[in-house]
Amino acid sequence: MNNIKLGVRALIKTKKGLIMVEHNEKKNGKIFIFPGGGIDPGENIFQTAERELKEVFLSLIKTGLEINLPVGFGDPFPHLLFSPKRMKEAYENDDLLNGKIIGGCSVSIDSMYVAQDGTVLLCPYLPIYCGNVKKQLVKDIWLNSNTYQMARSIRGYLEGKCGHCNLKYACGGCRANAYYETGSICGEDTGCWRDT
Ligand code: SF4
Repeated sequence: MNNIKLGVRALIKTKKGLIMVEHNEKKNGKIFIFPGGGIDPGENIFQTAERELKEVFLSLIKTGLEINLPVGFGDPFPHLLFSPKRMKEAYENDDLLNGKIIGGCSVSIDSMYVAQDGTVLLCPYLPIYCGNVKKQLVKDIWLNSNTYQMARSIRGYLEGKCGHCNLKYACGGCRANAYYETGSICGEDTGCWRDT
């Protein structure tokens, strides 16, 4: 009985589906499993799930730094919530509260969503047409799309809670969620991670 170790696996539901991680098993080789692991002494199941998820996001950020490839997230919170360095920057550097973006949704900052037919959308959840890579150069869409230019400056026009938030340039909320919940792309993100 003493050899039994309890573990936790988290079912994290995103707008794209459930998050799974790759795992190498001696017996079965490479498989995909829900993120999780063994419960450490003194932890409850929620603390274990949070620690394990944090490890997944941190390893993505760390791998990106090692291969000099910036890792962006479509969701606004991972960089802040799971990177102590970013969180420290967000709270301590006044410049970051005045327009310098250090985290949050990466659309138009360091990522572009291209659908299978070449259509470039602002985001899979906010399908505003931005161009088509089969008809235009990626560089032209990136530099000249009015929608992309609007998205890069949107944090200066946020409303409600996000508009007043001291982390708006480090987070900025999910603009798709804000649109569907408030009717405005600049509205507040009612799914704010700080409230959870
Ligand atoms: S209110 Fe919440 S979702 Fe909006 S910018 Fe601040 S931390 Fe992000």
